[in-house]
Amino acid sequence: MTRPATQLLERVEERILDHRDDLIDLRRFFHANPELSRQEFATTQTLADHLVSLGYEVHVRPEGTGLYADIAPPNFDSAVQPTVAIRSDIDALPIKELNDVPYRSKNEGVMHACGHDVHMATVYGTGLGLGAQREELPGRIRLIYQHNEETTPGGAIEMVNFGAIEEVDAVLGLHCDPELAVGKIGVRPGAFTASFDLFEFQIRGKGGHGARPHQCVDSIFVATQLCNALYQLTSRNFDTRIPAVISIGTISGGAVPNVIPEKVTLSGTIRTIDREHRNQIEDHLHRIAGGICMTHGANYKLDFQNGAPAIHNDPEITSLFANVGTDLLGEDNIYHIPLPSMGGEDFSYYCERVPGAMFRLGTATSAPSNFLHSPNFDIDERAIAIGSRVLARTALRLLHDRAIMRKTDRMVEDL
Ligand SMILES: [Zn+2]
Ligand SMILES: [Zn+2]
Repeated sequence: MTRPATQLLERVEERILDHRDDLIDLRRFFHANPELSRQEFATTQTLADHLVSLGYEVHVRPEGTGLYADIAPPNFDSAVQPTVAIRSDIDALPIKELNDVPYRSKNEGVMHACGHDVHMATVYGTGLGLGAQREELPGRIRLIYQHNEETTPGGAIEMVNFGAIEEVDAVLGLHCDPELAVGKIGVRPGAFTASFDLFEFQIRGKGGHGARPHQCVDSIFVATQLCNALYQLTSRNFDTRIPAVISIGTISGGAVPNVIPEKVTLSGTIRTIDREHRNQIEDHLHRIAGGICMTHGANYKLDFQNGAPAIHNDPEITSLFANVGTDLLGEDNIYHIPLPSMGGEDFSYYCERVPGAMFRLGTATSAPSNFLHSPNFDIDERAIAIGSRVLARTALRLLHDRAIMRKTDRMVEDL
């Protein structure tokens, strides 16, 4: 692995550090003005305005939420020179903020409780540092500001369809980690997050008097059988060495104690890091529900919805994060994440198409800090410039290495 010119790197980082306070202000602006998933119109417009003023070529989706923005050296030729993309999500959550801070959410009931405000400012810092050196960049930088990460189906697939990943050689991402101290980053090659799929069963039996179940088909009884079988699905059907989890989140049926209800609805989520397992889930659900309903004379209807696939971090990019992080923060501040998260993240849609990786950015001043999606979530803002620098260094290294690879490929072709 080679390194880009030190001077270029120094100038990029100097600019990021010079604008440290501006990045914090930008994060606070986004924090104070959060927008829910699919409603990020003002956020997108603010980002577009900022990026245009940095000299980026901005492409906003026709729907007005989500954008990607490019900056490239003069006479850039995508057939010859590489492109590295950096992605931030931009949406907030339907949570009423409980923090008493000057930048508290002004949009009552909506809050950046997942740190997407931090991601926006961090990626902007990277774009600001790299953008000022466009003449010397060994390729193109693309910033992807993706709407709707928090709901299903997420915005990533729409950004892909909008062309955000076209001509991209590698994609980088980050997520705040309130369990990791500021000044640290977390890395993990391979499985990083799990796929998540959602299911909803409607069990239909035959309603009747609670005193005479023999005249009924008890949908509640059938639903309990189904619950038990579902909880055994992963442990009895999937290779137990590979993480998988199924959770039932809702169950509803009946209205009064002495009536056996006609219908019960239950819904849940199932997560795994294994593609094969994931492909089999819907068939397993039908087989289990079909068998149980047949046994008891009930019927069922299944609605199955695919969420995002699992993220499998590219090992090369992940070791770059670790190397760059070691140079910047010291080896002790690189946390090698031992286990994948069973949470979901639609960054995986990009990683399915081009090599990509995410790292976790430590944002805790002191442990334990408030968790993601908590009404008290906040961060140590020193993390922002750190994240910007990790991304800028990694992007530069990738551009540099990909540019050399392409040159070598052309030389081989010329032989
Ligand atoms: Zn979230
Ligand atoms: Zn998030």
